[in-house]
Amino acid sequence: MIDLRSDTMTRPTPAMRRAMANAEVGDDCFGEDPTVNRLEEAMATLLGKEAALLATSGTQGNQLAVRSQTHHGNEVIAEQYCHLFNSEAGALGALAGVQVRLLQGNHGVITPEQIESVIQADNVHYGRTALVSVENTHNKSGGTPWPLEALAAVQDCARDHGLRVHMDGARLFNACVATGNTAREYTQYVDTVSVCMSKGLGAPVGSVLAGDQETMDKARYFRKMLGGGMRQAGVLAAAGLYALEHNINRLADDHARAQRLAIALADIEVVDINVNHVPSNMIFFRLCNGLDPYEVVTRLGQQGVKMLAMKPGIIRAVTHLDVNDEQIEQTIAICREVLGKENADLVI
Ligand SMILES: *Cc1c(COP(=O)(O)O)cnc(C)c1O
Repeated sequence: MIDLRSDTMTRPTPAMRRAMANAEVGDDCFGEDPTVNRLEEAMATLLGKEAALLATSGTQGNQLAVRSQTHHGNEVIAEQYCHLFNSEAGALGALAGVQVRLLQGNHGVITPEQIESVIQADNVHYGRTALVSVENTHNKSGGTPWPLEALAAVQDCARDHGLRVHMDGARLFNACVATGNTAREYTQYVDTVSVCMSKGLGAPVGSVLAGDQETMDKARYFRKMLGGGMRQAGVLAAAGLYALEHNINRLADDHARAQRLAIALADIEVVDINVNHVPSNMIFFRLCNGLDPYEVVTRLGQQGVKMLAMKPGIIRAVTHLDVNDEQIEQTIAICREVLGKENADLVI
């Protein structure tokens, strides 16, 4: 089975498993897991921050960032399709107790003018604006990296208004590989950043949140409160350290494969895709002629390729460590077959 539903589908390789098996461990709730400590130090350095914290998931990393930088009743400004608001089980309301102002982004990018238009005035009637969140790469717009200047402008605006900035960098390293920017070039413009090790980096579990020491101390406390205090988590951190060493530069292969797939899909008559906008490892496409994406995804699955059908009528395919060139060619052949003219009965 070729599984393109998400880059979370990667399984740890034998070499990564060996690194996990050989990890030196201790009780991380006592700060005594040397491998967790090494990962947190390595990530803090890589991301140019004072400190870092291993989180159980990207969702937990994001939510710890919000919880640690806001109070109940505060407002958070974010882009309308962001993961933080849409895909984290309502945690902003449930855990942080914040209200959210959603802005319509351009490929996920929001501007200072938009941010200023929703910052609350100092008035007893209003919630207090506390945090701006950005997503890099922006998932729902096809894995789009932020331009550095746009991020610098958001930071300037946030500083002017005394707001913190969080970056959901679930795929930050995809942004780096796609643009040639270093992680620090991005993170210099944000107060906190969360990075997933369980996406394209290929680790089985884990994300890292980085920021200033005071915020990370708060996040560590809230992590414990949320049941995220782990013990011999060095076995997981070892996978993360292995991923940092071996799996960042190779993301370029995933990006090239996404390009290859997108260009081939564009040649299929019923596929509507913008091949000029496949900046990283994610492909989003629509089907013409009233084809039902859910039915198409079922048929692709029967032929051995899994993709994800989403509202409103969009199919997503994501390339990753567990998909090689040959499997991309197989995927193309299967798509040609399933979406070819002879399958006119797919039309609803
Ligand atoms: C996957 C993802 C996350 C985190 O997801 P988890 O499944 O909780 O690790 C956060 N933000 C974005 C943009 C993502 O794609």
